Amino acid sequence: MGRECFAKVIIDIGHPDLDRYFEYAVPEHLAPAVREGSSVMVPFGRGSTLRKAYVTELSDVCEYDRAKIRDIASVCEKDVTIEDRRIRLAAWIRHRYGGTMIQALKTVLPAKRKIAPKTVRYIRAVMSPEELAAALETAVRKHYHARARVIEALIEDPLVPFPILARNLSVSMATLKPMETAGILEITEAVERRQRLYGRAATEAFELNASQRSVVDGILGGLAAGDLRPCLIHGVTASGKTEVYMELIAQILKEGRQAIVLIPEISLTYPTMMRFYRRFGDRIGFVHSQLSEGEKYEQLALAASGKIDIMIGPRSALFTPFSNLGLIVIDEEHDGAYDSETVPRYHTVEVAEELARICGAGLVLGSATPSMRSYTRALDGRYRLFRMKERAKKGSRLAEVSVVDMREELLAGNRLPFSRELTDAVREALGRSEQVMLFLNRRGYSSFVSCRSCGHVMVCPHCDVSMSYHKSTGRLHCHYCGHEEAYPQVCPKCGSKYIAGFRSGTQKMEELLQKEFPEARILRMDRDTTRGKDSYEKILNAFASGEADVLIGTQMIVKGHDFPRVTVMGVLAADLSLYAPDHTAAERTFQLLTQAAGRAGRSDDPGRVIIQTYTPEHYSIETAAKQDYEAFYEREILYRRMLGYPPAMAMLTCMVSAETEERADAAAKRLAALAAEGEGQVFGPADDAIPKLRDLYRKVLYIKAGEGEQIIRTRNAWDRAVENEPVFTGVRLLYDMSE
Ligand code: ADP
Ligand code: ZN
Ligand code: ZN
Repeated sequence: MGRECFAKVIIDIGHPDLDRYFEYAVPEHLAPAVREGSSVMVPFGRGSTLRKAYVTELSDVCEYDRAKIRDIASVCEKDVTIEDRRIRLAAWIRHRYGGTMIQALKTVLPAKRKIAPKTVRYIRAVMSPEELAAALETAVRKHYHARARVIEALIEDPLVPFPILARNLSVSMATLKPMETAGILEITEAVERRQRLYGRAATEAFELNASQRSVVDGILGGLAAGDLRPCLIHGVTASGKTEVYMELIAQILKEGRQAIVLIPEISLTYPTMMRFYRRFGDRIGFVHSQLSEGEKYEQLALAASGKIDIMIGPRSALFTPFSNLGLIVIDEEHDGAYDSETVPRYHTVEVAEELARICGAGLVLGSATPSMRSYTRALDGRYRLFRMKERAKKGSRLAEVSVVDMREELLAGNRLPFSRELTDAVREALGRSEQVMLFLNRRGYSSFVSCRSCGHVMVCPHCDVSMSYHKSTGRLHCHYCGHEEAYPQVCPKCGSKYIAGFRSGTQKMEELLQKEFPEARILRMDRDTTRGKDSYEKILNAFASGEADVLIGTQMIVKGHDFPRVTVMGVLAADLSLYAPDHTAAERTFQLLTQAAGRAGRSDDPGRVIIQTYTPEHYSIETAAKQDYEAFYEREILYRRMLGYPPAMAMLTCMVSAETEERADAAAKRLAALAAEGEGQVFGPADDAIPKLRDLYRKVLYIKAGEGEQIIRTRNAWDRAVENEPVFTGVRLLYDMSE
C-alpha cells in the first residue's frame, strides 16, 4: 500500500464560516483524480447519504481521529455547476498566488447576506385616456388641485411610482385613496431592486466605422472558430473601443450567454455605466465601491438567478456567478487598480484568462497603453492583437505635445514649478475663457534623491532603481538588494551641491498658481479633497459646468474624463513616477503621460500638452510626448530582458513581516537559504520600501525564474517550512507573483 492521503473538504459553501471543513480519506483508486478544488461525493451524517463536497486541501497526515475518518465515495468527473467552476477557479488562485484555500474561496464566492426586498408602491391608471381627460376637467372645475396633478401625471404615464408623485407633486395617500374608490386609479405594490439606473434606455447604436467593424468581426470570427486566445485591442484614446465592447456583448447575448465588463475602480465609472444602460437597459447589473455589502450581494444574486446578463464593475465583478459566461471585457487593462492588494494578491487579467478557459468564454482586453505583459503576449501569439489607430469622431485630433526641460528653467532663474511656456499657455487659455488642467504626477511618490542642477537621480549600482533616503540611518538604501551608501555631499555626476529629496504637493502648487493668477478660479483634486462621499464627482461636475478655470490634481484627474473646454494640460514633475522603487516605474510613467496627453483637445481644438521634467531625455517621456507606444515598448522590453524582470522572467516578491527586526531578518534569511536549494535565482533579503509599518518590521526577497511553476515549487517548500520550523513563529509572509 502507498502512502495514505487525506482531504479536507467543505460541504456547504454557502455557510458564512468557510473554515468549517471535514476530513476524509482518499482511497487509492481515486488518488490520481482528487486535487484541490475537485468536487467529490462523500458520505455525510449518520446514514450513508452522499453529499457533494469540495476539496480544499490535501495532506498525508490527518488531524482527526484516523479510525473515524471515512472514504471519499467518488469524484465528480465533469465540472457542471457554476459552483464547481468557481471552486476550480479558487483552487487555481490558491495555487498561483499562495495563501490558503479559504482565502481564495472568500475571494471568489460572495459572502451571503440577507437582503430585505424593497417594495415600491405604484399608481396605475384604471380609466382610459379619454375618461382621464374628462376627470381632469371635473377636478379643475372643483378646485381639487392635488387630484388634478395626479390625473395629469397619469395621462403622461399610466404607471407612476408613488415616491415620485409624493416627491415631485407633493401628493399624499389621502388624495389617492378616494381616487382609487372612485375608480380612477389603482394602488399596487411591486418588488424592486435596491439599486438601479434610471434614464432613457435603448438608444440606437452607432453605425460602426470600418476599423471597429473589422475588430468586431475578427474577434467574433476567432471565437466562432474555437480560438479562445485572449484578444488585445490596442486602440488610441477615443478610438471607439467602448462601442466595440458593446457590439461584442450584443452578439454574445444573442447566443443566450452572459458578459462581464471590468473597469478600473474609480468613482467616475458612472458615465460608462450609463452608456451601457442606454444600450442594454435593465439587463445590466453593476457593482462599485459605494454600494453597501447588501446592495452588492443583491446585484450578484440577480446575476445568479438570470435576471441580468451583463455585469459592470471593478475587479471583484469578475466573480459574478453567471450560469453561462460567454465574454469578459477588461477596459484599460493596464490599470494598477486590477492588482489586488490583499491576500491572495491576484492579477485580474491573469485570473480572467483562467476563468475564460474554465467557462469556454472569450476574453477581450482594451487599452491605449497596453501593459508590458499583455503586449508581449500579443506579439508572441499567446494573445490575438487588434489595432485601432484613429479617433472615432471625425475631425478630432491628438494634441500638440511639448516637453520642457526644468533644468534650463532653473538656469534661467525661474524657481517656480511652472515653466515660462506653461505660464504663457495658461495665461492665453484663461484670456480666451478656456479651461486648464494641471496634473501633478505623484505616483510612487517616495523620498528619492536627485540633483537639482543636472537631474541625476541616485540609483542602486546593482539594480538600477532609485534609492530612498532613510531618516533613521541618514543613508541611501536600495529596496531590491539591500545595498546602502552614504548620502552624497555633492552630485556624483556634476559636482553640484543642490541635492535634495523631492517633495512637493498639490496644495503648494495651488498656492503658487493662485499667486501668479489671482483672478483664476482654481479647483484642487487630491486625496485630501476627495475624502467625503461623492466629493470626487462634485469636483469634476463643478469643473465640467465651468465653475472653475483650472483643475489641479494628482493622477485622479487624468483618467478617462472628457472636458471639451480644456485646451491646456500641464504635467508638473513628469519624472516623479519614474523613480518609484520598482521595475514598473517607467511603464507607469509612460501610461500616465500618454493618458494626460489624451485629455486635451478632445473636440475641435487640438489643444496643447506641456510636459515639465528634469529628464526630458528619458525614453518614457520622449515616447509619451510622441504618443509612440511601440517605441516605448521596444525600449522597455530591453530593460526587462536585461535585468530579468517580468514579463521577460517570472518573479515572486515575498514580504516577510514580524514584530521584531531580528525575527523578520532570521525568517527572511532562512527563506533565502531554502530558495537557494530550489529552482530560480534568489535576491535579497533587503528592507522593504517601508521598513516598518504598523509596528511590524518588513523584509523583502525576490525569486526570478523562467517559468512561474518553478517559483511556485519553491514557494510551496517555503510554506511547508513555515508550518514546521520555529524560526517562523509569529512571522507573516505576503506573496506577489507576476509573470
Ligand atoms: P474609447 O472607448 O476607445 O475611448 P469611445 O467608444 O468612448 O472610445 O468613443 C469615443 C467617442 O467617439 C465617443 O464620443 C463615441 O460616442 C464616439 N464614437 C464611437 N464610435 C463611433 C462611430 N462609429 N461613429 C461616430 N462616433 C463614434
Ligand atoms: Zn548633478
Ligand atoms: Zn539594489
